[in-house]
Amino acid sequence: MTLIFTPLGIRGIVGDGIDAEVVTKISNIFGRRLGKGSLVIVGRDTRPSGYILDRAVVSGLLSAGVNVLNIGIAPTPTIEWAVEKYNADGGVIISASHNPPEWNALKLVGKGGLLLHPNEMESLREEFHSSGFKSVPWTDLGTEESADLSEEYIDDLLNFVNAEKVREGMLHVVLDVNGGAGAYVTPYLFQALGVKTNTINSSPGIFVREMEPRPDTLGDLSKIVVATGSDVGFAHDTDADRLSLVTEKGRVMTEDITLALVVDYVLAKKGGGTIVVNVASSRMFDDIARKRGAKIYRTPVGEAYVSHKMREINATIGGEGSCGGVILPEFHMGRDGPLAASIILEIMASKGIPISELIDKLPRYHMIRRNFEIKRNWDSLRKDLISLSRKRGMEIDLTDGVRLYDEESWALIRPSKTEPKIRVLTEAKDPSVAEELLEVVQEIL
Ligand code: MG
Repeated sequence: MTLIFTPLGIRGIVGDGIDAEVVTKISNIFGRRLGKGSLVIVGRDTRPSGYILDRAVVSGLLSAGVNVLNIGIAPTPTIEWAVEKYNADGGVIISASHNPPEWNALKLVGKGGLLLHPNEMESLREEFHSSGFKSVPWTDLGTEESADLSEEYIDDLLNFVNAEKVREGMLHVVLDVNGGAGAYVTPYLFQALGVKTNTINSSPGIFVREMEPRPDTLGDLSKIVVATGSDVGFAHDTDADRLSLVTEKGRVMTEDITLALVVDYVLAKKGGGTIVVNVASSRMFDDIARKRGAKIYRTPVGEAYVSHKMREINATIGGEGSCGGVILPEFHMGRDGPLAASIILEIMASKGIPISELIDKLPRYHMIRRNFEIKRNWDSLRKDLISLSRKRGMEIDLTDGVRLYDEESWALIRPSKTEPKIRVLTEAKDPSVAEELLEVVQEIL
């Protein structure tokens, strides 16, 4: 039995950690905290277990006297957008995002459409372990209404981006939704943008490739982009908050490229501003910020840290470079794959040059990511890493784990928040410098 309940989320294997009973109780506690008469938006991705968990979530909320607007199968960004748009008190997203099909998870959303802050999640977790399910009297039970908001979300997106410009571009796109919730939104959005679209893996609930849109899982998409002579390929994860892209030459890009393209474009358009990324995001974001006269802030890893920092400083744009998630507060406060795709189409149409050339203009670094088994106590490891920084004359940042940096390179070493592993990232312009730094860190581990 493994229910993974951390400040960053609640997830487990269906029937072996997460099930209707657990989910009813969590939703009931969340609903009681919001209070009787509150409004909560509920939605889910296309996993077969989603329907059962949806019934359980709604039961838990209604029993707490909370009213539910259930928007059914919808991308995570559509649910977050709806919380803000309908001025709801909260939201529950039933989706295990990029995890394999046997997993499912809950993401809890607060007022304004932001994921709950990790401190709030921690206090909810304590209550989950110390208290039980409680129902309001029968006269105070909540009510449920259903609505399909995908059309309204698409309309809002069409008003947000320069749709006229995208239509002029006459672009051809291959879209891989991998049977996820994006199937209900992104193909229709592209159609309305006048983009000729070939959607693959489009049957909701049928997961053809691995869920995570990575270079090693997007081989089919890459081949089809080249074979059809398309301008670009896009891929979502199951809840479509993420977006990976494939160039017209079939090259699958890492997801930080998606965020970098959008950040550069938005900051240029606004003539500067502020950007928030996590400590694991590439140094190219510092370069882009400098070039565009913007200020950059870095937070611990986790979307909630990024979005809460963004709200605190009223940021222009932000996201997590490690997972292609673009957050544009003017639209809503969560990572949004369909939004990122629309803006990239707008960039392509207005610049009129191939996506591979747009990417070549970005500052490029060589990044290495590795996961290691935990062999030592974190506190002693941390001390050794700090003394390594002194030995090498590197600066240190302790926002999340240990980040060592100098002009040429940086490394981030941190215990994973979702599995018992140590995550290591190194980055430099020169691949051999990044390799050398990884080797030195590896010795200490
Ligand atoms: Mg996701």
